[in-house]
Formats: sequence, structure tokens, C-alpha cells
Amino acid sequence: MCNIDFEQYFANNRHWAETVLAGNMDYFLEIKEGQQPKALLLGCSDSRVSPATVLVTGLGDLFIHRNIANVVSHSDLNFLSVMQYAVESLKVRDIIVYGHYGCGGVRAAYENKSNGLIDNWLANIKDVMRHHKSELLDIENEDERLEKLVELNVLEQIENIKQTSIYKDAMDHGLKIRLHAWVFDISTGLVLDLKKKYNIQPALT
Ligand SMILES: [Zn+2]
Repeated sequence: MCNIDFEQYFANNRHWAETVLAGNMDYFLEIKEGQQPKALLLGCSDSRVSPATVLVTGLGDLFIHRNIANVVSHSDLNFLSVMQYAVESLKVRDIIVYGHYGCGGVRAAYENKSNGLIDNWLANIKDVMRHHKSELLDIENEDERLEKLVELNVLEQIENIKQTSIYKDAMDHGLKIRLHAWVFDISTGLVLDLKKKYNIQPALT
């Protein structure tokens, strides 16, 4: 196990803050006033997929929730609270589900081994597998099958968002919530829009 140089993190942080202030000396005073994020992003907790880094966003741009395999569970008060606050208080109108190829959570669900407590969470992804069983079995190459499962999981979570009371309430009040299905390819560093890849029309709203 490598030793973590936490002092380096603090040094990096000081350098970053100085650099930001050099560009705009009021920057932190401005963001202190409040947030108006452009979108809510649900991503995987995986340390390699950091949305802010990959999408080059600034502070205040994205309201982010992360969990293993970017799952929307209707019993997860944590995500539902985040979503409610984003939609109702912050007036966010775009929600991005941001999966990634090479997802360990998706692979663990696929392999169906016993992993303890986490199996309860991964059951959400096993549901996705069951819903798309024949489509997945048609793919012979296992890596490709897992990539497809990652994509299907993102699309399934979009459907789960549509089933939340928060989304339905928003629709009932005439608010248009735009839903985005993205996958980060850790082998290229590029983010794919599944709506474009599969020409899903109309938009996922
Ligand atoms: Zn993952």
C-alpha cells in the first residue's frame, strides 16, 4: 500500500487557491453568495471517473451525487433528498446519469459472487440484467457485454428517475426536466452521450 502524502494535498490546495485568486480576486466572495448549478449529476463513486475533472467544470457548476454504480434506488433517501433539493430549491432542470465503462459495481453484479452487504445494493443492477437478459446474452464477447450492461444501467436509472415522486411532481407542475444518459470511457477519457450513440428520440424527458 502506498503512503499518502496528505501534506502534498494541502500544498496543492494552497497553490490552487492562489492561482484562482490571481485570475479573479473576488472569486471566493462571489461563490460564497450561493449556488446555481447547471445540472444534477449522478455518478459512480469510482475514484477514476471524477466528473468535475473530466468535464472541466468550475465550483458551482454541478450538483453531484455519487454512489456505487450510479444507481437510483427508490428507498435511497440520500439520493432522493439530493434530487428534491436540486429540482425544488436549486431549480435544476437537467439531470445527468453518468456511468462508466469498467465499473466494478456493474462487474460485481454481473459476476454474482457473494460480497456481503453490498450485494443488497448491487441487486439494483441485477434487476437491470434481468430486464435485458436476452439482449445481453446476444453479445458473445464478455467485455462488450459488460459495456452494454453499463449503458443499460445508465438508461435504466433514467427510467427510475422518471418514477420518482419528485420527477412526477415537477412534470405535474409543468416543469420540464431534461434527462441525460452519459458514459465515461476510462480507456479514452471521453464521455459518450447515449442519446446520440443510439439515436434515442425523442429526448429522454
Ligand atoms: Zn463504477
